Amino acid sequence: MSFPRKQLPRLAILSIILLMQACDGPNAGDLLPRTARPLPPAIRILPLGHAPKALMERTAEDLRKVFPDVRILPTEPMPAIAWYKPNRRWRADTLIHWMGKRAAAGEVFLGITTDDISAAKEGVAQDFGIMGLGQKPGLACVASNRRVHDKSQFPKIVIHELGHTAGLPHCSAPRCLMRAANGKDHTRQIDAFCESCRSVLLRKGWRI
Ligand SMILES: [Zn+2]
Ligand SMILES: [Zn+2]
Repeated sequence: MSFPRKQLPRLAILSIILLMQACDGPNAGDLLPRTARPLPPAIRILPLGHAPKALMERTAEDLRKVFPDVRILPTEPMPAIAWYKPNRRWRADTLIHWMGKRAAAGEVFLGITTDDISAAKEGVAQDFGIMGLGQKPGLACVASNRRVHDKSQFPKIVIHELGHTAGLPHCSAPRCLMRAANGKDHTRQIDAFCESCRSVLLRKGWRI
């Protein structure tokens, strides 16, 4: 087989380009500069108040499937500024603000507790008991298993709150992990991120 002479320069250029790509690495991902690849946050689990060690270790183990850098910090008492005396529970909005200020670059603080937490809610006098709360987007979130009926479902609350820190709002897909609780416990109905939420998290480097 022979090529017309005038096509030879074009073929030569093409071979040089292919050769350069072959030298760069075996797959397309390696052709991207390393800085262009999204890095997921480093998760810092902060055991707060009543926070059993076994629960912290189980949570860390679950999260290591998604995030390469997960560390459990020493347990701390709940900060007095978060105590909401009228209902004798801890204000989650105060907690995430307090933790967010402590997160270093690239970190997200995840407070875990078995104590009851709450937040201000429009139209509700005083405050509202919740399972978790996360900055959206932000550097901190908190989750409590106190109001979760089936404690084995608690990891879904944790991942939901981390989803908020990545910027995800609530999602209308009934089985999506970002479904709003609205005062109910849907942990048994939700099972995974929907494709739309998942694509946002993949772009942020989550391994899901
Ligand atoms: Zn939420
Ligand atoms: Zn969704």
